[in-house]
Amino acid sequence: MKKENIEKKGFDTQIVHAGQDIDEITGSLSTPIYQTSTYVFKNAEEAADKFTNKGEPGAYLYTRVGSPTQEQLENKLAILEGGEAALALSSGVGAITTSILTLCSQGDHIVSANSIYGSAYAFLDRHCSRFGIETTFVDATNPENIRKAMKQNTKIVYIESPSNPVLSLVDIEEAAKIAHEHGALLLIDGTFASPYSQKPLKLGADLVIHSATKFINGHGDVIAGVVIGKKAIIDKIRFDGVMDTTGAAISPFDAWLIIRGIKTLGVRMRKITETAFEVAKFLETHPMIEAVHYPGLESHPQHELAKKQMDDFGGVVSFEVKGGVDAGRQLMNSVKLCTLAVSLGDAETLIEHPASMTHPQLPREARLEAGITDGLVRLAIGLEDAEDIINDLDEALNNIK
Ligand SMILES: *Cc1c(COP(=O)(O)O)cnc(C)c1O
Repeated sequence: MKKENIEKKGFDTQIVHAGQDIDEITGSLSTPIYQTSTYVFKNAEEAADKFTNKGEPGAYLYTRVGSPTQEQLENKLAILEGGEAALALSSGVGAITTSILTLCSQGDHIVSANSIYGSAYAFLDRHCSRFGIETTFVDATNPENIRKAMKQNTKIVYIESPSNPVLSLVDIEEAAKIAHEHGALLLIDGTFASPYSQKPLKLGADLVIHSATKFINGHGDVIAGVVIGKKAIIDKIRFDGVMDTTGAAISPFDAWLIIRGIKTLGVRMRKITETAFEVAKFLETHPMIEAVHYPGLESHPQHELAKKQMDDFGGVVSFEVKGGVDAGRQLMNSVKLCTLAVSLGDAETLIEHPASMTHPQLPREARLEAGITDGLVRLAIGLEDAEDIINDLDEALNNIK
């Protein structure tokens, strides 16, 4: 369907049809997988022309720089997020590192939220600094802390909302305003919301990044990342970043799996969010639970902001069990339906312990400052019946000694 027609359609229609061109040669309904590493040119003149005009539709050169399968996925994602262009990469971390290494140079400064994905924290804290790019971490739930940390040389404000794993929010509109007042760009990792629940570009963000491994693909069988924004910036990240710097290219087959997986994003998210809310409400009433973090709950300190900037509250709930790490471990060892594994957004409900599994990259003090206590448990809701998930948790919680 043509871009100008699809932009007026509803989200579920967009998920299915956006960016999906029917193959002109065969009429194949499903997007073909162009499983090739390179492209043959008709003659030297065409080759020179395509290399000069790289970034234009149809200028296929070499699969590290793009492929028709990848391009269909990118066109879909750009429309879903309301952005000019999208880039798909080999992982969420690849999307984060490639974007930052493209946009920052030695001597630049980054202001980052302190509640972010473990590897993103490690990259900014320990690795960017090796190349002379410094990061100040702040509690970004109060945008004033971002403002206070801004410097003359701040290039990027980096946030994650809702954040992994404590589900704290950042006011995206405010953060964008502050970044722009200082001539910086706002990058947001929107993985926990997915394009279904939040549209950061419409709130002023310059780039939205997702781990497509999670809700976007939704089936636990791919590692991938995406970044969406203005075409000029996306082209720069594609050519200076993926092509020349990190090489974090996505394979045509993985791009195809994501095209297949994303078509059910709307139906999956509606079911997952509904279950997440029920599970969060159940946990809040259980005597073994100390605290529950879910933006959809009225008890969430930023519930009003969640209602303002999100269309829905996502599928991850985190909580503290009375008795700390010990009790949390007992819970994770005794659940029978919930599966002990990292990741989220899959068909299976996954349970994990952030302090020892997804977030050990944060020094303990920084981890506690970001609200990731030793006993915190993260639950990524899947597609099972809510009642079965609740019964599984109830039984395991009641077994804690
Ligand atoms: C998983 C995750 C990432 C990293 O993505 P990969 O695809 O695993 O590289 C980044 N940010 C958030 C919020 C995540 O949950």
